[in-house]
Amino acid sequence: MPEVSRTDLHRLQSRLAALATIGASEGGGITRLALGDADREARQLVLGLMRELELEIRVDRVGNVFGIRPGIEEGPVVMMGSHLDTVRDGGPLDGSYGVLAGLEVLRTLDDAGIRTRRPLAVAVFTNEEGLRYAPDMMGSLVFAGGLDLDQALATVGEDGSVFGRELERIGFAGPHAPGSIPVHRYLELHVEQGPVLDDEHAVIGIVEGVQGISWTEILIEGEANHAGTTPLRRRRDAGYAAACVARYVRDLAQLEIGGDQLATCGVLELEPGAVNVVPARARLTVDLRNSRDDELKLAERFLDDFLSTLEYDEQVRTSTRRLARTEPVAFDADLVGLVEEVVTELDYPCRRMISGAGHDAQWMARVCPSAMIFVPSLGGVSHSPREATNPEHLEAGANVLLEAVLRAAD
Ligand SMILES: [Zn+2]
Repeated sequence: MPEVSRTDLHRLQSRLAALATIGASEGGGITRLALGDADREARQLVLGLMRELELEIRVDRVGNVFGIRPGIEEGPVVMMGSHLDTVRDGGPLDGSYGVLAGLEVLRTLDDAGIRTRRPLAVAVFTNEEGLRYAPDMMGSLVFAGGLDLDQALATVGEDGSVFGRELERIGFAGPHAPGSIPVHRYLELHVEQGPVLDDEHAVIGIVEGVQGISWTEILIEGEANHAGTTPLRRRRDAGYAAACVARYVRDLAQLEIGGDQLATCGVLELEPGAVNVVPARARLTVDLRNSRDDELKLAERFLDDFLSTLEYDEQVRTSTRRLARTEPVAFDADLVGLVEEVVTELDYPCRRMISGAGHDAQWMARVCPSAMIFVPSLGGVSHSPREATNPEHLEAGANVLLEAVLRAAD
């Protein structure tokens, strides 16, 4: 195989800058909610780049866009990709970087006159952020068969719009059945959106998986009573019980489970909510996360056990409701190993890690061996206009993607 020139940082940066003007506000944030006018404009910009590269363009019925570059042989594609939609007042890199770096890889191969054995593709997945239409990662979820197409098209957005009609309005209701492109390997390059790489001065994160999430709502019922006349031993204090839960989940994460277990009590509401009344009711939520499903299940059980003890100790009644649960995803060990081999050869400081956020790659992992490559987010900031990555790190990520794709395609 001929020596491959590296990706062109300036070309990549100028395309990122052009894309960042679409949906930009005066405050510096970028808002491209899924299937809005700015999303359409961003998609059109990327379609233009795909046409320049003479890719075969396919748009599927959920609006996912694929640009395919033929290989020497026909067959399943080695796919790169990410998304173009953003949160409100998001940054220039989340999603955009993965798509544009994928196109940069193809441009570099064109310039070097390299044709891979397998075909290559760059994907733009629809509605990754899930702000306007739930659930998030909808395009890749439908592609992977995890959500029925008609159900996705019928989704009513937070603004009352219907997904399928908006998709037609912006001209991206394509003819192809989602999932009809056979995929050999999927590799997604993304900014970390957390502080780990930046803190450790690492340049590349070799992502081994995505952590699982378990959301529980807890209702606690006690008895309202006078704060001045009710002795402590006679109280059925829902507020105190709720505070015990909030305190406990930190111990649960730190002491009882350990490892990378996380626990957050994000909502805590008391009724009647008066300064001189013992609370009668409390509503709180617990967010548990772990990259290992056995540990996540154990954390859920410990929480249940704690609530039983609490009922007895504080003479309150508790009830729980599962709000959401996604299992952890482990990426393909061989593909993760291939990425690590490339990073080691290119001599970038790196670490293996788990993604704290959800990504399209976690649904693609159902379809084919998949993995992710992270680059540092300065200060760990993302979903913010202040989202940034050092240019040399953007370049490093694109070079790792280039080399990993070359190996996966031959
Ligand atoms: Zn993203």
